Amino acid sequence: MPNKHFCQGPTCHEQTTADRFLKSKGIIRGRYAYATMDRQPNSWGWTPNGSDVYFCSQRCKFDWLSTNMENIEQGRPIEFIRHRRETGGYEKTTEEHEGWQGRTYKTHSINRVDNRTEID
Ligand SMILES: [Zn+2]
Repeated sequence: MPNKHFCQGPTCHEQTTADRFLKSKGIIRGRYAYATMDRQPNSWGWTPNGSDVYFCSQRCKFDWLSTNMENIEQGRPIEFIRHRRETGGYEKTTEEHEGWQGRTYKTHSINRVDNRTEID
């Protein structure tokens, strides 16, 4: 998808959602922005908001504002993210639970694996 920016959300690459998780490497990857750079209308004819060219979600927009408004006020430059950011050290954990009438069901979660005790 070369026609999209990477999401500028400060913690986009640290949020443990299934679509960000790359199991083979055990990493969380930042998403692409929601909209293409040319903001083509979607299949319902709706044209994305201009900020959707830079962010994958409302959460990432708000995170960016919270992080950067003071920089804007003070005239400090803000880095534009041009590469796919990654956070390493995650694994997918599956737990089996007992449910209604003795049936079992599974839940999945993505957890950090680098919380082991360090040995000197
Ligand atoms: Zn994002």
